[in-house]
Amino acid sequence: MKKLTQKIISAFLLSALLLSLAPALPASAKAPLQATGNPLAGVKIGIDAGHQGKGNYGKEPNAPGSSVMKTKVSSGTQGRFTRVPEYEVNLAVALLLEEKLTALGAEVVMTRRTNDIDITNVERTLLINDAGVDLSIKIHADGSENPDVNGAWMLIPTNSITADINEQSKAAAEIILAEFVAETGAKNRGLQPRTDITGFNWSTVPVVLIEMGYMTNETEDRLLATDEYREKCAQGLANGVLAWVGPQIIEDPIDAFSDVSASAWFAPYIIWAAETAVVTGFPDGTFHPNSTMTRAEFVQVLHSLAGKPSVGKKTDFADVQDSDWFASAVYWAAENSVTAGTGDGRFNPAGAVTREEAVTFLLRFAKLKGDNRDFSATQLNFSDTDSISPWAYIAVQWGVGSGVVGGYPDGTFLPQRTATRAEVVTILHGYVN
Ligand SMILES: [Zn+2]
Repeated sequence: MKKLTQKIISAFLLSALLLSLAPALPASAKAPLQATGNPLAGVKIGIDAGHQGKGNYGKEPNAPGSSVMKTKVSSGTQGRFTRVPEYEVNLAVALLLEEKLTALGAEVVMTRRTNDIDITNVERTLLINDAGVDLSIKIHADGSENPDVNGAWMLIPTNSITADINEQSKAAAEIILAEFVAETGAKNRGLQPRTDITGFNWSTVPVVLIEMGYMTNETEDRLLATDEYREKCAQGLANGVLAWVGPQIIEDPIDAFSDVSASAWFAPYIIWAAETAVVTGFPDGTFHPNSTMTRAEFVQVLHSLAGKPSVGKKTDFADVQDSDWFASAVYWAAENSVTAGTGDGRFNPAGAVTREEAVTFLLRFAKLKGDNRDFSATQLNFSDTDSISPWAYIAVQWGVGSGVVGGYPDGTFLPQRTATRAEVVTILHGYVN
């Protein structure tokens, strides 16, 4: 399919560029993370903080139609040394994880946000099923008779009635547990296949259960009682979700964007952008290929491409505040001569980037990266060559000479036309590849 799409591009690329207009994007859709990417946009995660303040010791079937009855929900274990209850640790980590996943663009469904609640294991699982999540994560801590036992592990469903989700759950558990132990330094106790967990047997979505550590082990009990370690636990799980989603996106990235059809001329470039996270989509699962990109967003993309180096010296722009989400990117760009602003002590962050601006930014970026190819002899024969701004002329020569950018079929270059997100991605693809 990719090859077919490539052919379509060659035929329609330029005319499609002409046709694409740029509808304005609502201001709210331009939140900080979006320029560099919401890697979890379109991903829905269920989080179940295990147990609750007061157990409910009534019984419920441990699987649909099963005669095996299990406790509806218990209050869990307790720190042998700190006396901190498990339900409290689980909830603290769950709330931190919710925050992190949401910041990465995911939609999160929580079974509880308080310890003072009564919701059984079956009810929790049905709630997550109904939300249609991509993955459900159950958060627990463990206990043992032996105080020396320590480490983290993940339980996974293996029942025949969960045959549809067993394989996916296992794949997710392997990836997430690896990230969890990498972040926390906990011992990796591996995966444990289970057929008796109510929250697995009722699940219709891939599900994993992390046992973060042993509350009967002094070291882990004391660690799990601290904000610092809970933060690491949540970070490890968030890293795990990112690592798990990564390969999924690469498999079929176009599915992630409701407004990008596989036959669109820019589809392969957007696939590339999503795979590399150079430019990604919005939390609602769209990419807005025909929307404009602001100068702030463009500089943010270049800063990401450069690996987000830190800023040595801040350059003053009247319209850039330290607290702006794009501030580091603009300071970095100014410090490295990728931008000099708009010449009046301003940067104009909200201005839509024009084609000649995009190429100019990119030429300076290329120079910064050590690309010193000289295209100053390149002849520009566009019907509107005269309208190219003097400061952008060498950049357009460089862009055309190096094949990063071209004109339109009618012989124009349209230097002051605003570049669409799809065009920017195409130009970046041309540059990087
Ligand atoms: Zn538990």
